[in-house]
Amino acid sequence: MLTDYHVHLRPDQDDTPPERYFTAANAERYREAASERGIEELGVAEHIHRFTQALEIWQHPFWRRWARDDVDDYCAFVREQTDLKLGIEADFIPGREDRMAELLDGRGWDYVIGSIHFLGDAALDYDRYDVWTTGVSPDRVWSRYFEWLGEAAMSGLFDVLAHPDLVKHWGRERPWPSRDLRYFYEHAMEGIAESNVAIEVSTAGLRKPVGEIYPSQPFLEMAVDAGIPIALSSDAHVPDQLAFRYEDAVKLLEEVGVQELAVFEKRQRRLEPIG
Ligand SMILES: [Zn+2]
Ligand SMILES: [Zn+2]
Repeated sequence: MLTDYHVHLRPDQDDTPPERYFTAANAERYREAASERGIEELGVAEHIHRFTQALEIWQHPFWRRWARDDVDDYCAFVREQTDLKLGIEADFIPGREDRMAELLDGRGWDYVIGSIHFLGDAALDYDRYDVWTTGVSPDRVWSRYFEWLGEAAMSGLFDVLAHPDLVKHWGRERPWPSRDLRYFYEHAMEGIAESNVAIEVSTAGLRKPVGEIYPSQPFLEMAVDAGIPIALSSDAHVPDQLAFRYEDAVKLLEEVGVQELAVFEKRQRRLEPIG
């Protein structure tokens, strides 16, 4: 079994209205590309900030810029017009857990993917609102990121934690911490292990400035030691990015001794052998 669950039906660009992208024909393009690449388990996970309901959770200018669509229309489209699993990529916004739970509850997801794209108002993987222009030291940014990742796990809001070391997104183009990175990973590991959430291995990092899979091999080794289940995704935004460089991901998983992948249905998780 191979999976691709963290998939967007459209690029992060203007002029990507649901009328054009939330269509049976577009879903079929994704299904065909996935079949060609041996992906049986395919699901979509739109960014929560594309939905107007998200503004009840958070009012960051980035969210206000993007919130246009209706989350129930999205759910109905995936359920009624496609054979794809229904997911969403939701942010962890500390202090807003109740509001987030309200949006997520009762909408019939197969899985909810939890992400940290912002530390407070500062962005980790976007060059506006860039965390690296705030003057906060890299050690502090990395510590806070992984503390929040542990809290995101413990919030119980999510089934999978996306791109678990996204803080490395810019690679050496931005300040980099001086300590062994495992020091920072430790901040998150206990919360993740205790919460029974899965972590994502994402090949998206290979397309980003850092040029490596999320998470790093040492992070993954620590997670495997702690018995944390692994989900595999590409974070594709177009059909051609589905299963992007999965051969690299499968090799990494083999190296660290992962033999099974998390599979989701109606927010229930089971493990299936990789292959
Ligand atoms: Zn993301
Ligand atoms: Zn994504």
